[in-house]
Amino acid sequence: MSEEYTEKKPVVDKEKCIGCCLCPTVNFEYPDFKMVQTEQGEKAEVIKKKKYKKGQIEDAIEYCPVDAISQED
Ligand code: SF4
Repeated sequence: MSEEYTEKKPVVDKEKCIGCCLCPTVNFEYPDFKMVQTEQGEKAEVIKKKKYKKGQIEDAIEYCPVDAISQED
């Protein structure tokens, strides 16, 4: 996994998210996502940080089964 950092924030499309709880597990020690309870059930939410590990975000984008994660431009 790359140790490069980016200031580009990941984005979760809560309409698409099926609450599978996978993205918070990409890195338990330095998570980029947390699960929150919404009226539509459990959904992933981005944890606000100054910078994000690039490879970690790329992994989350790749692993999400419904392509709900992207990155802001
Ligand atoms: S991996 Fe995708 S579907 Fe699963 S909780 Fe994260 S955003 Fe939602």
